[in-house]
Amino acid sequence: MNIILLGPPGAGKGTQARMLVDERNMIQLSTGDMLREAKDSGTEMGRIVADVMARGELVTDEIVIGLIREKLQGDTGGGLIFDGFPRTLKQADALAELLEENGQTLDKVIELRVNDEALVSRITARSTCASCGEVYNDLTKPIPADGKCVNCGGTEFKRRADDNAESLKKRLMEYYKQTSPLIGYYYAKGQHCRVDGLGEMDEVKAAIAEKLQG
Ligand code: ADP
Repeated sequence: MNIILLGPPGAGKGTQARMLVDERNMIQLSTGDMLREAKDSGTEMGRIVADVMARGELVTDEIVIGLIREKLQGDTGGGLIFDGFPRTLKQADALAELLEENGQTLDKVIELRVNDEALVSRITARSTCASCGEVYNDLTKPIPADGKCVNCGGTEFKRRADDNAESLKKRLMEYYKQTSPLIGYYYAKGQHCRVDGLGEMDEVKAAIAEKLQG
């Protein structure tokens, strides 16, 4: 089963994707993670995208479509989770073509609904373990007092360069302008379903599981 997790920055797409990977052997394809890897590895592409990402703007369709094209040729495991892709109508059309070329289908598009106030507080309080990527939140899930990651025991934590109020404003704007039209696009194709992303992580997980069954 191949699915898209759709929603604004901070909606919980990455967190839910990680749980689906652990429990269902699915493969997470996060264009945000791929772009951050490119940035950290100091490649030509990494240099091009670093500033764009820090400003909260979208990287070009050509770059992200290229990244996804490469991944679709690899192992598809227990199904693919597209996280942060597609983000524009052009990317959505490209994904449909790429899946068809690879003999794959898109089964469900799950929109995680969260109000803007919650997004701002989630994102500006967010940090992750530098070794395993476990997500923490200063308000709801602080880094343990002993300074060790609950998942892997790692002791280094990082904050994303674009997790600040100014860049978040831009990312939200981009979401409403460029990405939210995808809700109608997939609704028209009969693939869209919506989940309340405001609940506890496990409640959201259960709601997603229900949609994946139905
Ligand atoms: P978030 O959903 O929290 O904003 P992501 O990790 O998905 O975070 O993306 C971080 C940044 O990477 C985006 O603000 C954008 O600059 C870039 N990016 C990620 N995916 C795409 C995409 N599909 N198209 C264009 N830019 C993207």
